[in-house]
Amino acid sequence: MTAMVEARRVRKSYGDNEVLKGIDLSVAAGEVVSLLGPSGSGKSTFLRCINHLESIDGGEISVNGQLVGYRRHGGKKYELRPREVAAARRDVGMVFQRFNLFPHRTALENVMEAPIYVKGESREGARSYALELLDRVGLAERAAAYPGELSGGQQQRVAIARALAMKPRLMLFDEPTSALDPELVGEVLDVMKNLAADGMTMIVVTHEIGFAREVCDRAIFMDDGVIVEQGSPGEVFGNPQHRRTQAFLSKVL
Ligand code: ADP
Ligand code: MG
Repeated sequence: MTAMVEARRVRKSYGDNEVLKGIDLSVAAGEVVSLLGPSGSGKSTFLRCINHLESIDGGEISVNGQLVGYRRHGGKKYELRPREVAAARRDVGMVFQRFNLFPHRTALENVMEAPIYVKGESREGARSYALELLDRVGLAERAAAYPGELSGGQQQRVAIARALAMKPRLMLFDEPTSALDPELVGEVLDVMKNLAADGMTMIVVTHEIGFAREVCDRAIFMDDGVIVEQGSPGEVFGNPQHRRTQAFLSKVL
């Protein structure tokens, strides 16, 4: 089976604070993985390293067989130039807690933007694919709405469509429903569930245990910069082996 993400002994520090202390993780193509752990355990940092929004201090990460952020030459690794990093990042879509849509552009324009300006697609092509994606996230009717006219759940669905517009092979979600009112969480999770069913490879940082149980192939528990425990959601949530996992789950379940 081909790995979509292969992380080996990944280390990352901010000053004296070692935030990732040797993360090993392999995610297969089509696999959906949930990443859980207490605040400050390094989940967001790890996702940002996969996308090379952060450089790493040790180890290496590959996405779809390509070394992230570096190129190997004569046994040495060299950091890629910003333009090369940007090209590699197109394969990876990321959705954050906050939607970060352009406020003065419609939902449709938000989704069309990157394919036109980053990939140089034609306006017409970008527009028709954007409409298809808005339909896929249940927002075909709201294509002309501005972010301020949409609910948080609708904005987050636009943000997902916007990430999909670049035709990524991998989607990273960083607590995509944490900023939403409880009644809006379900509509976003439903979109993610459909994406998973369509075969997208996904790493999802979430505290939505119900979603992780139902949709994810694997659950990973991180604490203090290391992976403490992982397994099927049934195993990890039903019968956690480590004291730290048990303590965390007793708070969120
Ligand atoms: P999580 O997403 O699991 O809550 P983070 O990856 O955001 O954890 O943070 C892990 C640790 O790294 C925390 O101690 C946090 O304060 C620190 N950290 C995160 N980003 C930065 C940064 N840009 N500069 C300095 N420290 C950071
Ligand atoms: Mg975080």
